[in-house]
Amino acid sequence: MTSTMNGPAHHRQLGDQTWQADAVCQSTEYNPVDPEVFFPEPDETAKIATAKALCGQCPVRRTCLDAALESGTTDGIRGGLTEEERRALHEKIAHRLDYSRVNDTIGGRDIHLTKAERRAVVYAAFRQGVSEQRLAWLLKITEEHAQKLYRETRRALRNRDLNQTAKTPSPPDNSGEHLNRDDFGTAA
Ligand code: SF4
Repeated sequence: MTSTMNGPAHHRQLGDQTWQADAVCQSTEYNPVDPEVFFPEPDETAKIATAKALCGQCPVRRTCLDAALESGTTDGIRGGLTEEERRALHEKIAHRLDYSRVNDTIGGRDIHLTKAERRAVVYAAFRQGVSEQRLAWLLKITEEHAQKLYRETRRALRNRDLNQTAKTPSPPDNSGEHLNRDDFGTAA
């Protein structure tokens, strides 16, 4: 596979990327690394072994793997795992909804979120009265997009309230016999 990237870590566009400075695959004058080894064909075992050996000594391996999963980066070797080895993890993480990450995002932390977590951020921000401008900043989207997300949230909440009202059971019929605590024969 041909890549113009200078290393696997460069795929991540959102979220805190400062960890990349510690990546073993960052090619420097004193530590030249061929980025192509991170994009092997499945049968290029020598390339795969080389990339995995580098990942094995990388201090940000876990973060790199998380970043690949969170950003949906399915190509190349990341965090020591090949595309095939990451496939099941990619499918699983798409459904992750971690509220600590949602809260951290509302608090201003730069986190790459899954779709479910982004939806939860919009909902929580709306409920907390976070401005559209702030939401746009938090999610790195335009203000127009933030306004649209709030409109959708407002509509969804209104529909939910309407549904709940429709489902609320009628108040009990008070015309019948009233039971007091004593009627249950308990000592409470
Ligand atoms: S774990 Fe591997 S791919 Fe990820 S930053 Fe480290 S060396 Fe690069």
